[in-house]
Amino acid sequence: MRNFVIDPFPNEHVFSWLLRMYNLSGYGTFLDYQKSLGINDRFLHANKVFSITTETLVNLMDDREDAIKSHTTVPLWQLSIGPILNNNKISLGSFNHISEELTFSFDTYWHSCDECRTEDLDKYGTTYWHTPHQLPSIFTCYKHLCSLEKSLSPVRNLFEEIFPHDVNQWLPLLSAPNDIQTDWQSFYLYLNELSKVQVESILKLKTRLFDILELESKSQEERLKKARAQSLRLESELPDSLLGYLFRDYHPKTKRTKKIDIVSASLVNLARDNGERHPIFLSVLAYWQRAALNF
Ligand SMILES: [Zn+2]
Repeated sequence: MRNFVIDPFPNEHVFSWLLRMYNLSGYGTFLDYQKSLGINDRFLHANKVFSITTETLVNLMDDREDAIKSHTTVPLWQLSIGPILNNNKISLGSFNHISEELTFSFDTYWHSCDECRTEDLDKYGTTYWHTPHQLPSIFTCYKHLCSLEKSLSPVRNLFEEIFPHDVNQWLPLLSAPNDIQTDWQSFYLYLNELSKVQVESILKLKTRLFDILELESKSQEERLKKARAQSLRLESELPDSLLGYLFRDYHPKTKRTKKIDIVSASLVNLARDNGERHPIFLSVLAYWQRAALNF
């Protein structure tokens, strides 16, 4: 039997596309349809970027680079792991995620926009999950500039076959964003755009930050000590409302005394065996050092 594949909608997330194709395919179960494409994935999470599933799906599209840019949130991960776009030799299935369940304060489940849902129903007869709505820490729709929404009962996993029109009650992702959160969002979107159109500047960022923060040392122990001191500087210079919005360790509700060392986690203590560090980390450092970086 030939693979059943149709075109994705504009900016449709690959997992949304996968679910929609299954619905139209005539296969009895979602896993049966997945198996016809050579995949087997019960965990279709909004914040999962590295998997055989993603790799298989982007390769089903005509243009792999465009597929990654428009249908996944992979591009900014180049900050952490190096070149991915325009590099057919690297498989998105060859990387691992660090377990991040307890790392971030912002909502990491599937998000949608009220106006997009109305428009999509009108135009396509269905809603779908948009890629830019799933960018981590982003709370504004790229098309309508209105607040993004999350489901009252969180949509964690598209394996449960949920589209935006299946959700009963939506809540704003961030009811009253403050100036610093808005400023952060603009910066993060700027970095995300650079990661698609000026990849070189993103690839150099890690080394530039390492130099700006003067972390070079003969021993790893010395580097960690320097990183610790820089993290304390970062904590005193970035507002609590931003660090608390991004990291659970800094959220007032958590009251953790031992907090993650952001500089060390991003630039010094890189234990690859555990997986790849989320690009939010290096993005925070870039935001903090944006003047020195000329951003
Ligand atoms: Zn919208």
